[in-house]
Amino acid sequence: MEVVAPFKEVIDEIRESGGEAVQNCFQCGKCDTLCPWNDVTRFSVRRIVREALFGLSEIEKEEIWRCTTCGRCPTLCPRDVKQIDDMVALRRIATRYNVYPGPVKPIRTINAGLQSRGNPFNEERQKRKEWAEGLPVKDFDDKTEYLYFPCCYLSYDPRLKRVAMAVVKILDKARVDFGLLGEKENCCGESIRKTGNEDLYVRLAKENIKTFIENGVKRIITSSPHCFHTFKNEYPQFMVNFEVIHVTQFFYKLLKEGKLRINGHYRKRIAYHDPCYLGRHNKVFDEPREILKAIPGLELIEFEESKMESLCCGMGGGRVWMETPKEERFSNKKVEQALNMGAEELVTSCPYCITAFEDSRLVLGLGEKIGIKDLTEVLEEVV
Ligand code: SF4
Ligand code: SF4
Repeated sequence: MEVVAPFKEVIDEIRESGGEAVQNCFQCGKCDTLCPWNDVTRFSVRRIVREALFGLSEIEKEEIWRCTTCGRCPTLCPRDVKQIDDMVALRRIATRYNVYPGPVKPIRTINAGLQSRGNPFNEERQKRKEWAEGLPVKDFDDKTEYLYFPCCYLSYDPRLKRVAMAVVKILDKARVDFGLLGEKENCCGESIRKTGNEDLYVRLAKENIKTFIENGVKRIITSSPHCFHTFKNEYPQFMVNFEVIHVTQFFYKLLKEGKLRINGHYRKRIAYHDPCYLGRHNKVFDEPREILKAIPGLELIEFEESKMESLCCGMGGGRVWMETPKEERFSNKKVEQALNMGAEELVTSCPYCITAFEDSRLVLGLGEKIGIKDLTEVLEEVV
């Protein structure tokens, strides 16, 4: 085995990242039995933890980049070894040396887009709000109650712009006072942080925080669970505390308060997928389900692995920017499971999951056999 990272640097980086719990690992292997990678290839998080403990990590290989930060193995680790922190710490070292093995190389381009234009697609800032043209939404000012933060995917991706449009239409129907910051906002920085680029994350986060404060933002509605998680759990490291709510929580609140009414039917059998950063990381399990259950005609079915055990789509931890061979995509498995359960649509509430599932539907040649939808799109059809 070629040892690339020097012993002391690995140990120091892991300690600084709060991952010194690697020393508690007693190599029971429970993490390996839970990790979804072992359904599609061979991957040992247990071995990576062991190597990191002795400073023997190999940063030139793809292994340290595989973890999707799905959060599953930490739930059963008997020694509270912080596997995700360890993985990110190792990626920080690789980032420092600019070492990105084959399938990870696209991260360089993503970094460049984020650095120059504040979004991973290297799209013009001025176009960030184009999707909203002609829709009933205003620019955010200091008298506006809620900022709607759609995320980069919903701002620029043709498939996901439809989700942002649906959000706006629902908020307008419920007479919510909300607005957009458009070109003033950056990517939240979550995925690039998980690839180990801490400096870029800090820059994006600080710029966003400055923009939020200067524009009088106090309450934020997010569509992406990744933005939700970052604003709610990670931005407070900068001594700020915005009130952050995910659209599924907000829509459920509007329904309960009678500000939003369901008028139509949705006669379909639907399987709901818990996104890792909404479900396992933030325990938002009930609100999406309560919304779906409130829709007449809709039959909600559950995956065998759901809620805390939900199978990751494969896109977290910055994997959304990396290349994954067709036969190693978790999302293929999930779409097949949904189909085998008799679902007509696979519904979720995360842009990364939608991207992965749409891709799997294409790769598996499923055509119209199953639909992929964001929960917002379903709700928009019945309110
Ligand atoms: S589950 Fe925890 S203690 Fe067991 S091998 Fe994995 S990291 Fe080590
Ligand atoms: S967090 Fe998820 S993907 Fe990462 S090592 Fe644990 S089980 Fe595997």
